[in-house]
Amino acid sequence: MSTNKLHFETLAIHHGQEPDLLMGAVVPPLYLTSTFAHSDPGVTKGYDYSRSGNPTRTALESNLAALEGQNALSPAFGLAFSSGLAAIDTLLRLFQPGEHVLVSNDVYGGTYRLFERVFKPLGLKFSYVDISRPEVVAENLYPETRLVWLETPTNPLLKIVDIQELSAAVKAKNPKILVAVDNTFASPYLQQPLALGADFVVHSTTKYIGGHSDVIGGAIVTTLPEAYERLKFLQNATGPVPAPFDCWLTLRGIKTLAVRMETHSANARRIAGYLNEHAAVAEVLYPGLVSHPGYKIAKKQMRDFGGMISIILKGGAEAARQLVKNTRLFTLAESLGGVESLIEVPALMTHASVAGSALEVPAGLVRLSVGIENVNDLLQDLQDALKA
Ligand SMILES: *Cc1c(COP(=O)(O)O)cnc(C)c1O
Repeated sequence: MSTNKLHFETLAIHHGQEPDLLMGAVVPPLYLTSTFAHSDPGVTKGYDYSRSGNPTRTALESNLAALEGQNALSPAFGLAFSSGLAAIDTLLRLFQPGEHVLVSNDVYGGTYRLFERVFKPLGLKFSYVDISRPEVVAENLYPETRLVWLETPTNPLLKIVDIQELSAAVKAKNPKILVAVDNTFASPYLQQPLALGADFVVHSTTKYIGGHSDVIGGAIVTTLPEAYERLKFLQNATGPVPAPFDCWLTLRGIKTLAVRMETHSANARRIAGYLNEHAAVAEVLYPGLVSHPGYKIAKKQMRDFGGMISIILKGGAEAARQLVKNTRLFTLAESLGGVESLIEVPALMTHASVAGSALEVPAGLVRLSVGIENVNDLLQDLQDALKA
């Protein structure tokens, strides 16, 4: 069956997941094996060793490629990794010492740490700028620039970058410069960067794609066949592969991605509106608020605005600490994108590794990952905690 004309919700459930040929299992089996029998030396059914490939991983990789590549101009290829950072690490290995990567100045703390403390000592060059301003991007592209790296919405400041405009501007300057978008905050249901001109999409599938806070994983999807072959080589040569069970769990999560993202977005919209009116709140960072500087771009390039909200409290860092200690339904924890609501203080938790750098986040910033519980219970929880 050709699945490329199907809608997103259908692809999420079916693509790469046809009933198994041997027994007819409707859910693709979990191939919990490290190795595969040969009928003659070198003769296999397509798999020989699970670092190189595993059928459960193939099902996940092909599904992710279909979702991110749904509206891309050329076919997309997917690769799954043991974590989001393993995916980013593998992508950065495409580049050589002396080459330059232009990075958005608001990225996940672990990405910044990987760039600065692992790849910089190996000779790659990085600069961090406000990538939402085209003139700033143009000024910072050098002859040795090979990659532009961004998130949108960004973690944790929820800034929006126009992917189409940025990709076009970069390619106009030098068509060889590649554009990579970490699409973790939006998920392919809300935003598809490959259709907007990006060359790579990267995910921490730990977040919305897995969706249930029970598995760590990552992915790269690209429309460039040569880069895909090199990344596939690196995946096997360096070994950052996900376990078959982790692939199986992630696939299980993907089936409900569309309905989850609808509810995450609807709940977050209500909560952002409530917080925006609250006397204790100085600022709400949510791209779905008309007052957000990225609202128009987000409306154009995203299906909805997602489930992440950051707020700055009038009481600063101490008020932030009190708030996160007093919520009951919003659990104080790192990570995001699961069915349950989480709350955290990035400066002390997820983004502690950018302290003292140009990417430092405000001490009083609180980040909420709005879950899919009943929104009235979530509103009540925040109301009680803000009172305390
Ligand atoms: C969590 C996260 C990562 C890292 O992914 P892991 O699965 O934790 O390794 C990368 N980018 C963003 C935007 C994230 O939120």
